Amino acid sequence: MSHHKVIIIGTGPAGYTAALYASRANLAPLVFEGAQPGGQLTITTEVENYPGFRAGILGPALMDEMREQVLRFGTTIKSETVTKAELGARPFKVTTDRGEYTADAVIIATGASAKWLGIGKDQQLSMSGGGVSACATCDGFFFRGKEIAVVGGGDTAIEEATYLTKFATKVNLIHRRDKLRASKAMQERALKNEKIVFHWNKGVEDVLTATVETPMGEKVEKIRALVLKDTVDGSASELKVDGLFVAIGHQPNTSLFAGQLPMDESGYLQVEAGSSRTPIEGVFACGDVQDHVYRQAVTAAGSGCMAAIDAERWLAAQGLAD
Ligand code: NDP
Repeated sequence: MSHHKVIIIGTGPAGYTAALYASRANLAPLVFEGAQPGGQLTITTEVENYPGFRAGILGPALMDEMREQVLRFGTTIKSETVTKAELGARPFKVTTDRGEYTADAVIIATGASAKWLGIGKDQQLSMSGGGVSACATCDGFFFRGKEIAVVGGGDTAIEEATYLTKFATKVNLIHRRDKLRASKAMQERALKNEKIVFHWNKGVEDVLTATVETPMGEKVEKIRALVLKDTVDGSASELKVDGLFVAIGHQPNTSLFAGQLPMDESGYLQVEAGSSRTPIEGVFACGDVQDHVYRQAVTAAGSGCMAAIDAERWLAAQGLAD
């Protein structure tokens, strides 16, 4: 069983930034990349809101850059998935699908996963730039002058629908019930917005596509319409749209820590305000696993930096940094 000063779980922007700072602090971190190496950005296409790339960068390319950058400073990355994290006693014990490791400090950067509709096609098109997304802040810009749909009835759906009216000519909000879950204030704002059309008691049964040619001559499958099913009378209808935003919630990847670390009612880890510290000394959390509000690559990266600095200071105070 090999021992490490710092183990980092996860390789999204939070995990990689934590690794960058930890490795530059001579902590030689060991990083487990998990089942989705590179995290959620590897399933997006163009990223235009990450500072430093004035022409934008593809999500997978951005994550490759981050990976290469941390390797330059002595981070070890293992293509292993953590199956168990024992945080009850120090050194902490981390078990993966291939081995067992111990660490003085653990940085959790396991992220969150967008929930998809369960019809397959939505998730598939989100990965291939087919006009489906789970992040309006990231992708809204691509739908200027277009007609789109948002699925969901919670705060995220209403916030995203409202935000998307800045770009789209019309936003169709599709909700499976006749009442929104979103807070009253947000509901009122959306209900007054003339660009938002509500489709009550409707579920998305299917996503219809067309093959189009890009300006580069590449053939891609793009969304053209949704098949909706009325959840009351079962009738089907078709809705023509150029884009679909799925906003039915996110699932923080925290099952490894159940019963060990406090979580809010949605399962997000709770950290001390303004830090990355969890209630277990030596265990830090960063990125989307502890943030359901901002959920941006750049905020995740910032919190990864905080976690590495918190870990380094804590290790130094224990006399474990050298
Ligand atoms: P929520 O879980 O609150 O809402 C999910 C919505 O999606 C619900 O309306 C639900 O319908 C619907 N839904 C779930 N699964 C499906 C499905 N398979 N098919 C169709 N519809 C589905 O998630 P949110 O992401 O909206 O919010 C998460 C948390 O973040 C909340 O606590 C929220 O308050 C908070 N938040 C706060 C914001 C703010 O204050 N500015 C902004 C964004 C989020 P149903 O209602 O029928 O269950």
